[in-house]
Amino acid sequence: MHRIADWARHHQTDIKTVQTVLRAHQTSALLTFPIQWNGIKKAGQTAHRLGTKDQVFLDYVIPALCGALDPHGVDHFEARLRRTEIRDLATTGYATPHVDHTYFAENLSIAMTWTGSINDLLTLSHEAGHVAHILLSKAVAMPPIGRETCAFLAELLVLHHLQDHAPDLFDAACTIWHAENDIYLRDDLNHLTQSLIDPDTPYEYRQNYPIARLAAVHLFDAEDPSVIRDLFASGPDAMTHIALAQMANAQNPLPVFPKATSPAQEAYQSLGAMVLLDMAAGEDKAESTISAYYAELLNHMQHQTAFVGLDANNKPFGYTTWANGQTKDRASTHETTPFGSADTLRSILKAHLEHHTPAKSEEVA
Ligand SMILES: [Zn+2]
Repeated sequence: MHRIADWARHHQTDIKTVQTVLRAHQTSALLTFPIQWNGIKKAGQTAHRLGTKDQVFLDYVIPALCGALDPHGVDHFEARLRRTEIRDLATTGYATPHVDHTYFAENLSIAMTWTGSINDLLTLSHEAGHVAHILLSKAVAMPPIGRETCAFLAELLVLHHLQDHAPDLFDAACTIWHAENDIYLRDDLNHLTQSLIDPDTPYEYRQNYPIARLAAVHLFDAEDPSVIRDLFASGPDAMTHIALAQMANAQNPLPVFPKATSPAQEAYQSLGAMVLLDMAAGEDKAESTISAYYAELLNHMQHQTAFVGLDANNKPFGYTTWANGQTKDRASTHETTPFGSADTLRSILKAHLEHHTPAKSEEVA
């Protein structure tokens, strides 16, 4: 596997399908965080200090993975997971966390640096996900997107366990998940998008992460635990358990916005879109009264300091409001993009403001 075209073929897909999945993420409904956790704060307290790596592995990671992947204990999965050794990365000569295993998955070990942070808990969960698919697939090799989807799913399974057993840690771990999306779904995704332009681009391991990250959320939201178990137990056919075609066809569920024929109609549509987008993003507006919420949005519309982003199908995918009128140094007061990317919203807003000199404020009440 030397070129990006070989990589696509190795995953039983092609460059075009991968590009369609990425576009579905950019402009429509591929979520980057499980829908069941909509509304969980993105800025939880992350300064927790956890116990030893072995204790955390026993307390949180093993129960989370066993509960989801071997609920009836038929695979003796727990005993085998418990035998996993967690070694200090510094002793291995490698720069990044990884899993080592010998033939037939005996003597599995995770190599990572442990400082007791919430980031480390997610790293441990990720690597334990690799241990889990090696054990459950009887060490049959899986294509890299399959492996990384399992590892990201393991992170989500641990989050799910924390939600019930350690709510403080759950909030913190959600915050880290969002922060790490900036690496996998911005930096890595931009790099992958560029790589896909030329089929001869050399293959690099990080090109696997964006699709795997989106696939993990997609499968986790499917809420059929057997789909997840089948993926962990699969091998070379792992991609048959990851519905790339279905992900590529994911649609933004909001309605198409017809072209407004009057400023009043446009304001009416914008207000509706903003409410729907806040609901979809799980923004907790229940603290403010409906009249305060309405007054704030209306005020932004009257001052033309609100912007709703429409995708290629004319469906709203996000909106933003800001202070300081139409000046260059806008300070965003609210931004939500449940069905698209914040970068896209910002760039179309920039283009919009450059091409539209502010008109006189219309009466929209
Ligand atoms: Zn991994």
